[in-house]
Amino acid sequence: MEAKLIESLEIAPEVRHFVFEVSEVEKFTFVPGQFVSMNEVINGKKITRAYSIASAPSDSNRFELCLNLVREGLLSPRLFEMRPGDTIEIRPPLGMFVLRNPPRDAVFIATGTGIAPFRSILNAQLNETSKAFTLVFGVRYESHLMYRAEFEELERKYPHFRFLPTLSRPTESWSGRSGHVQAHIQEAIGDRRDVDVFLCGLKLMVDDVRNILKEMGFDRKQIIFEKYD
Ligand SMILES: Cc1cc2nc3c(=O)[nH]c(=O)nc-3n(C[C@H](O)[C@H](O)[C@H](O)COP(=O)(O)OP(=O)(O)OC[C@H]3O[C@@H](n4cnc5c(N)ncnc54)[C@H](O)[C@@H]3O)c2cc1C
Repeated sequence: MEAKLIESLEIAPEVRHFVFEVSEVEKFTFVPGQFVSMNEVINGKKITRAYSIASAPSDSNRFELCLNLVREGLLSPRLFEMRPGDTIEIRPPLGMFVLRNPPRDAVFIATGTGIAPFRSILNAQLNETSKAFTLVFGVRYESHLMYRAEFEELERKYPHFRFLPTLSRPTESWSGRSGHVQAHIQEAIGDRRDVDVFLCGLKLMVDDVRNILKEMGFDRKQIIFEKYD
């Protein structure tokens, strides 16, 4: 199927939020946390890359992505060059990075654009009667805290949602958490071992946090992860 770019907006340095529309369907269906695959022929070769959907399912045929530019990469620079009205071939949503059934209280740990699936899950599934969710979000600089205002708003609205942003390279004006997400696992989870923990980002972080969680006594089934590289 084909997706048409409606708009793309820079939301952090070298990070853009994209809105696509799939004209051939009335409603674009997916489970929060899933990804779409995008295909493009580059230098005569078909390139496929996966992108987590950053929006909640709706009654429309639109979906949103949050992408960072990999300067030396093949596809992401192309996506950053797309203009409204341009199209790209996609494959329908897939993936198991979704809340388990029955749902349990969950801790979400993201770095960088690893935030995308959690924005989808939170916007779709956090409500007055939902399970409790904690989001640990690690980036380098304050300007990279994508969707910060949205998560702060959710935190004001829902007492059972906690937002724990952390900066690995804070400036003096930052009075919040600092260091990598690994430093805040204890604060996010405490003594609980009855929660699911979802990890999304680059391999280095995901593998490290998985090891920490296993040492803390988590069963592998409770650790659900998506690696971007
Ligand atoms: C299930 C899944 C979901 C994904 N969702 C997203 C998403 O929501 N947003 C997003 O921006 N990316 C996401 N990715 C990563 C994406 O698929 C591409 O790998 C990324 O856009 C780079 O593609 P490229 O063709 O530009 O670079 P390539 O030519 O494929 O790679 C260049 C190099 O950059 C490294 N690299 C790959 N991804 C990144 C990254 N994100 N940051 C820094 N270095 C990287 C690779 O290891 C490689 O060495 C996802 C990956 C998977 C598997």
